[in-house]
Amino acid sequence: KLSNRLMAVASFVESGAIVADIGSDHAYLPCFLVNAGKINKAIAGEVVKGPYESAVKNVKKNGLDNAITVRLANGLHAIQEADAVDTVTIAGMGGPLIASILEEGSSQLQTVSRIIAQPNIHALAIRQWAIKNNWKLVDEEIIKEVHKIYEVLVLERGEASYNEAEMLVGPFLAKKRSSVFLEKWERELVEWQRIVQELQQAGESSNILMKKRELETKIDLVRSV
Ligand code: SAM
Repeated sequence: KLSNRLMAVASFVESGAIVADIGSDHAYLPCFLVNAGKINKAIAGEVVKGPYESAVKNVKKNGLDNAITVRLANGLHAIQEADAVDTVTIAGMGGPLIASILEEGSSQLQTVSRIIAQPNIHALAIRQWAIKNNWKLVDEEIIKEVHKIYEVLVLERGEASYNEAEMLVGPFLAKKRSSVFLEKWERELVEWQRIVQELQQAGESSNILMKKRELETKIDLVRSV
């Protein structure tokens, strides 16, 4: 019943974890994890009233009020120290938004040892946040659902360094080289090459040339993988 996308996120939650699902919307993910018997306790955080109410309703419908606490809060401020949350899940948003939520609420991460992030776009922003803040990737997954391709990043505390190409496409995803991974980057290459051609016709202002050079660098990076 859960989407493949959220299934992939759920698969990285360890048994018995205490999970804070940030931007939980209907709280599908925490409800699934508790119903499956994988975890006993979760926080569902939402900053918008409508989705917050959907989460409250769905938790009640599932009879999980004792296991799942729904909080109306901005980002990681849904987490309280007494919760002893060890795992944060953040799914279905853009990478830069996820990174900004992690950055803004980093003081709430004291008890957290694992972050599972599922950016819809621009996973690079999360890898950059991780490296800067002493988190490293321990696994990654890429999945396709109804034509859309999603990445799941699993972070734990520790130092690591990745080269530019690994930062862009993901060190674990690059190693696995799944068919979905290849499809994603082939799609991106086609799109970037299209933009480069458009820029070529758009003129020679320094802005355009800079944008073009940026794209060509990314194209070369992806080709090298
Ligand atoms: N996590 C669910 C999923 O993957 O299916 C819902 C994804 S939904 C597209 C994104 C949700 O994140 C929205 O319900 C939105 O209100 C919430 N959201 C956005 N920014 C947030 C923030 N700073 N703190 C908490 N929730 C946020």
